[in-house]
Amino acid sequence: MCQQCVDAVRKHWPDLPEDQYGELLWGATAFPFACGEETANQVAEMAERSGQDLGLALALADEDTDRAMKALDAQPDKV
Ligand SMILES: [Zn+2]
Repeated sequence: MCQQCVDAVRKHWPDLPEDQYGELLWGATAFPFACGEETANQVAEMAERSGQDLGLALALADEDTDRAMKALDAQPDKV
């Protein structure tokens, strides 16, 4: 993770211990496929949606993934 990701977590998750930054980034954002501004935006969004609760943020991210997969399945023309 780059300095931009670290700064975003520090800003939006001021109470999160530094050894859990990776868990948040891996579990609740597109990191490591995205890094930098996109990840920083997701970090901010997840802080807001979860109230800075790491467990809740991970659960919300899981739900987002499930919803995205189901939406894909629901498109009949999609292979
Ligand atoms: Zn980064």
